[in-house]
Amino acid sequence: MTTPMMKQYQGIKATVPDAILFYRLGDFYEMFGEDAELAAPILQIALTSRDAGEGKRIPMCGVPYHAVETYMVKLVSTGHKVAICEQVEDPKATKGIVKREIIRIVSPGTLTESISERSNRYLASVFFNVQWGLSFLDLSTGEFAIFQTSEVEALLAELSRINPAEILLPPELIKKAKIWSGYYCSVRDLKSYESTVFKLRFSAQAPLLQEFPVAASAASALWDYLLETMPGVDPSHIVEIKTYRSEQWMFLDQWTRRNLELTESLRNQGKKGTLLSVLDLTQTALGGRLLRHWIDKPLLVQADIEQRLNTVEELTHDSFLRQDLMKILAKVYDLERLMGRVSYGTANAKDLLSLAQTLALLPAIREILNSNTATILKRKIPVLEGLDPLVNTLLNALNPSPPISLRDGNIIRTGYSQEVDELRSIATGGKEWVAKLENAERERTRIRSLKIGYTKVFGYYIEITHSNAHLVPEAYIRKQTLSNAERFITPELKEYEEKILGAEERLKELEFQLFLELREDVRSYTQAILKAADNLAEIDVFVSLAEVAVRKRYIRPQITIDGELSISEGRHPVVEDMLEAGVFVPNDTQLSRERHLAIITGPNMAGKSTYMRQVALIVLMAHVGSFVPAKQATISLVDRIFTRVGASDDLAAGQSTFMVEMHEVAHILKYATRKSLIILDEIGRGTATFDGLSIAWAVAEYLVQHPDFNPKTLFATHYHELTQLEDNFNGLFNLHVGVKERGDDIVFLHKILPGRADRSYGIQVARLAGLPHELLKRAKTLLLELEASKSVPSPIDSSQAVTQFSLFDVPQTHPILEELAQLPLEDMTSRQALQYLYDLRDRI
Ligand code: ADP
Repeated sequence: MTTPMMKQYQGIKATVPDAILFYRLGDFYEMFGEDAELAAPILQIALTSRDAGEGKRIPMCGVPYHAVETYMVKLVSTGHKVAICEQVEDPKATKGIVKREIIRIVSPGTLTESISERSNRYLASVFFNVQWGLSFLDLSTGEFAIFQTSEVEALLAELSRINPAEILLPPELIKKAKIWSGYYCSVRDLKSYESTVFKLRFSAQAPLLQEFPVAASAASALWDYLLETMPGVDPSHIVEIKTYRSEQWMFLDQWTRRNLELTESLRNQGKKGTLLSVLDLTQTALGGRLLRHWIDKPLLVQADIEQRLNTVEELTHDSFLRQDLMKILAKVYDLERLMGRVSYGTANAKDLLSLAQTLALLPAIREILNSNTATILKRKIPVLEGLDPLVNTLLNALNPSPPISLRDGNIIRTGYSQEVDELRSIATGGKEWVAKLENAERERTRIRSLKIGYTKVFGYYIEITHSNAHLVPEAYIRKQTLSNAERFITPELKEYEEKILGAEERLKELEFQLFLELREDVRSYTQAILKAADNLAEIDVFVSLAEVAVRKRYIRPQITIDGELSISEGRHPVVEDMLEAGVFVPNDTQLSRERHLAIITGPNMAGKSTYMRQVALIVLMAHVGSFVPAKQATISLVDRIFTRVGASDDLAAGQSTFMVEMHEVAHILKYATRKSLIILDEIGRGTATFDGLSIAWAVAEYLVQHPDFNPKTLFATHYHELTQLEDNFNGLFNLHVGVKERGDDIVFLHKILPGRADRSYGIQVARLAGLPHELLKRAKTLLLELEASKSVPSPIDSSQAVTQFSLFDVPQTHPILEELAQLPLEDMTSRQALQYLYDLRDRI
């Protein structure tokens, strides 16, 4: 027969088939069967076995309870779910098997341990019903949002921005594996998308939820999942669902976000070398996360942008104010995450103390804001009020250096509770009494080595070594024999023991109860504390933007809507930072509705990419409400920034470079409008020369031909032939990057100049890179021969109205091009397309 414990285990395990069950057994969490076999190698712990009844043994492994967090995090971060099963009654007080229950299920999206403090960890939920609904939650901070859209593109862009650790999906959607590739997904029952518990909990927001019903369904499933994974916990710090319409924020697709290296660098995926790293002088984790959000979601409404710029400007005028605020903000703890712990009931005394110490800074912050000329920030004073009574209570109640454990006393400060003080004096008085008794007994028995000790099992005892056994008084009662000593008790000792131990136990329990009351007290202030946290985060970000602006000589951009983009002496914020002071060469930019497409030529390494990204970043920074690296800038609002940059590190998800590139170009042409800014870097590079040239050429024409579709575009190309287009289209003009020739060598000036580059200097660049002299000589000869014989497509006549224009209507016919035009790319796998390209290359 199976043992009763194994029966209980199997019953619980059946409720969480997809999770690894951590089954509490004394001081360990044990895993059994397949769970044990799966977990042991990941956790690098020994796999043993245990009697399961009927003479059978099952695999088993275990982790000590006090280190459970590390092991759990390890399993979850390798993509597993962990269910924590606790003993829910006192083993001492029960006969037979102890009752156990699952108290928490931890998945990648519900993990709140071991997370980076300056970014968020989101759990997302998606639903589809005519429109796409998205909801996401950061459990540790309580940020809870919904978003609804008809475009799958917009959904994907949002997902790429928030980069959820886990996505919840209904059964129908999870089948569309391609959309969710790269994400950890969990399937949810359809009925969880209509949860009444959710509706009740957020009934105050019913109008909002009715306005976005699909997103509300997604949020409902998310909430249901949360309650299922944390039974009995009310995440009270999640107070409000926020929504946003996409018109509020600039939509940045995943390529642009990546290419411009806004918050993650292309190379090492970290923050170094990103726009965020340049702008981030925030002092708090709260501010660090908010700044990241701002950069990820530039504003579109002029008044909102101006308001941010006004606040930054105000702060740039007062360096003392900035210093004062930075100094005090540096002491601010992560209020959002602390409140998260309060609401889950995991906050310990140190957490409450950190919270109190942070809130105790508020009066000083109000004072700084009040005594300054900063009129805009002054408006934040009221939301930083009202928490002082809580601070007083906490600081009066809590021991200034409390232990981590809540059960061992020493949490409550003397003077806070009379009862605590009394019990404490008995408990400590008792210890003195024991010391006195020890002395008295030594005198009485003349045993100098007599000791009074204490163990949990036997309580207080008198210990006497065997060699003194003959001196033991009659009245001593023998309790225990050790190898070299004996232990005794006396009635007097036992009587006093009860009094002391009783006091100690009661003291610990009382301190614990008082602490729980304090934590509830804090919980009742949740809304006010989170509001203060939001505002501290904003102050932190504004001060950071202002400080950066001053240190790096940024200026306030003029925001307009007239279609003019004019930057004088603009700089690339990140590249400038990496070079020595004064080395970066500033450049101007002039684009308007009429002259909106610049073809940029110049040798490799001249600075074309840097220039184009610089323009995109300056425009983006202005939309964030930041000052910009330039001498003067007038920036007409754009609706989107598109980039198609770089051909080297594009081998994403098994697609060939050329496929990725064409996909991105198609995406840009589909979604760009006359208000967009487009950066195109070297398109057509991933294929054979003539194909590439033809496609680049056709794309350039497409962008200038339609009078109502004239997005501002910077187009860098190594096809010098494209510069001829200037003669045919008014909207298009040439720019080039200056170089100086010095004999056979060239010097890069990094200066953007009007007109076309006369040569590409490929051979000179190759020389700089150290190719052998003989090879370079041969290349020179070949170049001369090729230049003498080449054929160039002639520009099509701009007066011919082109109504339908497809990407592959290139003005050059070639058998391969015709074949390409017919190619059923939609039906090909990327592997087939890649193979096809290899075949093509072999045939050229
Ligand atoms: P391209 O796109 O023309 O190949 P890049 O934009 O990649 O060239 O620039 C190559 C290098 O030249 C950059 O890494 C940077 O170090 C330097 N550079 C580019 N622009 C400037 C500038 N305006 N001032 C100083 N150095 C620059």
